[in-house]
Parts: sequence; structure tokens; C-alpha cells
Amino acid sequence: MSSPVIAVDGPSGSGKSSTARGVAARLGIDYLDTGAMYRAVTWALLDHGVDVDDPVTVAEAARSVAIDVGTDPAEPSIRANDVDVTAPVRAAEVTAAVSAVSAVPEVRALMVELQRGIIAASTGIVVEGRDIASVVAPDAPVKVYLVADVGARAVRRTAELGGSGEEVDLTREDLDRRDRLDSSREASPLVMADGATVLDTTHLSLEEVIAAVVHLVEQTLDRGPALEEDAHEA
Ligand code: C5P
Repeated sequence: MSSPVIAVDGPSGSGKSSTARGVAARLGIDYLDTGAMYRAVTWALLDHGVDVDDPVTVAEAARSVAIDVGTDPAEPSIRANDVDVTAPVRAAEVTAAVSAVSAVPEVRALMVELQRGIIAASTGIVVEGRDIASVVAPDAPVKVYLVADVGARAVRRTAELGGSGEEVDLTREDLDRRDRLDSSREASPLVMADGATVLDTTHLSLEEVIAAVVHLVEQTLDRGPALEEDAHEA
């Protein structure tokens, strides 16, 4: 059988994680959150007191961080050096430092190698990140690029983090800052890959976005609802 790879890219807060998880659950296939991998490396470096603004030290220290990522969309999990960091990787200190760490080419090379291994071992997977369609899996048959108005993204992200209305402006500043850093870095910047389908999620509910992506997958792979059965047979 074929092993569908669905690449979901886009800026912070565009709805990638919820969409990618929902699509994977709907299709009965795996889910890979590559952002969580960069966050887990960042967590481990901070935990070891590494200066994340020194790319040479980051490149060296990242080599000894063991990342282990779960691909069940019902229960995404990530471990760094055998510590479950699923919750800690969402902490503000990690979010503030992750763009500096993910801009280091050696870190990207390590993560991309791991990601390609996970994709190769899977019988069907939705992979979300910034460089999935452009670098990690350029042959993915389905490439989706999610966008949303930054105001809408800030409102969503604040709600996800359980923040109050006053925190929306701060969240918006953080999203703006990460968008700028992630789009302007030299190593694999956030770009829309050739052949990607752009989906503006500003005025869509999560269910609508998931349904649109599932529709695109079924159309592209021309397999219809049989995908789930096939994925389980493998
Ligand atoms: O998706 P999330 O916001 O959790 O990603 C955290 C950070 O990881 C991003 O701001 C970006 O710096 C980095 N990242 C990346 N490439 C990916 C996924 C995430 O550089 N494929």
C-alpha cells in the first residue's frame, strides 16, 4: 500500500497542531509535531544551562540530546533525554528561546534526520512544522500551508494557553517576533513550498479546517474513506 505523507506548514498559531492532529485522527494515521522536537531540544539545552544565543555551543550540545517522540494523534508525547517534556516544552522560557535554537543548521540537520526516519517507518502520517514540504518531505503528495490573520492567531493562542483577554497583545507580539525570526533565518526559513495548497483559517472553525484538509487528502490520493482501513491493515 502507499504510505501517505501529509505536510502541514505555516506560521505560529495558524492552527497547524490542532488541524494536523485532527486530520491524523480522522484518517487513522500517525501525527508528527516537529515544533515539539525543536522545543524539546531547547528545553534540554536550557536545563543544562547552555547559552542558547551561542550557535556554536548550541550545535555542540544538541548532539547529545536524545529526542523520542510519540506519533499517536490521541496522545502526542515527547521525551528529551528520557524525561517526559510534553508539558514543559510549552513553557514561556522555551517559547522565547526556541527560534534561536531552531535557526542553528546543525540542530536542523539532526531533527530533519530524525523526522525522515519517523516518516519512513510510518504507514501514513501527518507532519506539521515550518519546513516539511520544502525540506523534510518535499515529495509529500499533499502539502497544505495554513495562514491566518495575526490578530486571530493571537486570540486563539491566548485561549489555548488559558490566558486572559489582556494577554492577547503580548501573545500577538510573540507571534510577530517568531514569524519574523522563523521567516528570515538562513537555514530552512518558513516558506510556502511549490505545489502547496494555501488555506486561510481566519474565519474557519477547527472542524471546517480539518474537513477541508481531509477532503484535499482524499481528492489528491483518490482513495476516499478507504484510507483508514488501509492504514490499519499495514
Ligand atoms: O510549532 P511550534 O510553535 O511549536 O514551533 C516552535 C518553534 O520551532 C518555531 O517557532 C520554529 O522556530 C521551530 N520550528 C522549526 N521548524 C519546524 C517546526 C518548528 O524551525 N519544522
